[in-house]
Amino acid sequence: MNARDSRVGLVPALMRVVGPESLQLGPEIPPAALHDWSDEKSGAPLALVTPRDTESVAAVLRLCHTYDVPVVPQGGRTGLAGGAVASDGAVLLSLAKMDRIEEIDDTSGLMVVGAGCILQRIHEAASEAGLSFRLDLGARGSCQIGGNIATNAGGNRVIRYGMMRDLVLGLEVVLADGTILSMMNRMPKNNAALDLKHLFIGSEGTLGVVTRAVLRLHPSVEGANAALVAVQTFGAAAELLNHAQRTLSGRVTAFELMWNDYYRAVIDATGLRPPLAADHPIYILVEMQGAAPHTERATFEAMLEAALEKELVADAVIAQSQREVESFWALRDGVAELLGRRAPTINFDVSAPMSCIGECVEEIRTRLAARFPSLQLAFFGHAGDSNIHLVAGPISEHDPTGREIETIVYAVIREHGGSVSAEHGIGIHKKPWLPYSRSENELAWLRQLKKLHDPKGILNPGKVL
Ligand SMILES: Cc1cc2nc3c(=O)[nH]c(=O)nc-3n(C[C@H](O)[C@H](O)[C@H](O)COP(=O)(O)OP(=O)(O)OC[C@H]3O[C@@H](n4cnc5c(N)ncnc54)[C@H](O)[C@@H]3O)c2cc1C
Repeated sequence: MNARDSRVGLVPALMRVVGPESLQLGPEIPPAALHDWSDEKSGAPLALVTPRDTESVAAVLRLCHTYDVPVVPQGGRTGLAGGAVASDGAVLLSLAKMDRIEEIDDTSGLMVVGAGCILQRIHEAASEAGLSFRLDLGARGSCQIGGNIATNAGGNRVIRYGMMRDLVLGLEVVLADGTILSMMNRMPKNNAALDLKHLFIGSEGTLGVVTRAVLRLHPSVEGANAALVAVQTFGAAAELLNHAQRTLSGRVTAFELMWNDYYRAVIDATGLRPPLAADHPIYILVEMQGAAPHTERATFEAMLEAALEKELVADAVIAQSQREVESFWALRDGVAELLGRRAPTINFDVSAPMSCIGECVEEIRTRLAARFPSLQLAFFGHAGDSNIHLVAGPISEHDPTGREIETIVYAVIREHGGSVSAEHGIGIHKKPWLPYSRSENELAWLRQLKKLHDPKGILNPGKVL
């Protein structure tokens, strides 16, 4: 069947399945639906469908499978790797209308949601029930839980609560041929054979479409104790993390590093008042959230005093109010303004074992400075969970120099046994670098899994592998 035939047969069939209000064709598709937050180029898709329930998703996939038409699953399109970008002739499958919070079970500490539910709504619903959902990231107002699951999102509190994978109890997925695979488990413990949901978490829409999920909830938190700390070396930062975890019984909820180049750049871009002088090599936002932060203040302060006595810390300022906690976070979240100021930039999201992070940063800095002496860099990241971000530029990744910068950075990461993607996924953007972090045997096994789940290769083709 050629492309023209597929349009002729498929479109009316899709119309019957989802109805005219949930189908847009070619030029009717809003431009925003073609892109995510990466600058990957979009193709010209055939249609955008927005089904309302799992059965309709299954029917859409059955049809696309029959007609051999590619399907690109889309959540909130806040992805940074190009995974949701439209491809030529594809059906874009948006989960936006499947946004129901079906149930909150406070006894079991869980919530059942549709994949299209916006992360922030999940936070609000959990909080209204006196509980909390602990995945949090800057795109919370737009990203969908299905997208968070498909990318195994990380974010600000991984150090305490883990990645998305650790917060999913159960999952419902529709496979490429329209088979509905229900794995809506509700228990933290369930070892009745292999836990299949993990195959789909982080698969970036290439193995199945997530339609519903059972999420794990935690007790609510009322606020936080937090400090902005300056240290002289990465070694001191790593020791401080161990010290803080030991003395606070493993309850650190964030340990965010900002190297001097980031700290200066973000103050410049945001106009925020620097809480500490801008002449220290590394700054750390240390946070411990809790149900009664005021009662834990003395313990938090004692932790910092002991760190000062041990000379781990060069200077520190403790937040005196929740507003001050937020002002520390504003420095960390000011990356958006920094990106705006320096655009276009090449943005890295890499990880390395904690013991190598300091070395990796210095090695990347030295190699880039030798080759590109005037290139501006800003290092920061969720370093407490081994994650480093780097903003390099202004420079476009499509510039040949951009490619050389990527080669230098990813080579250092490979040499230290790190990962080319800590939390944003591979999508299109990082495909060339995937072999830096996965062995040939792993890649071959991933290809076999793809073939098993999607023998015709219709699900998000050209992404990840
Ligand atoms: C300001 C900002 C801050 C960010 N901070 C973080 C951060 O701290 N940590 C982090 O991990 N990420 C972060 N991100 C990246 C992004 O928000 C996450 O990757 C998020 O999980 C993507 O969700 P989404 O709904 O927008 O997915 P989309 O961008 O729509 O899609 C992402 C991928 O998932 C697939 N997909 C989407 N929905 C489904 C579904 N229902 N079933 C199957 N596949 C699906 C798509 O095909 C695509 O491959 C940030 C992004 C921005 C813009």
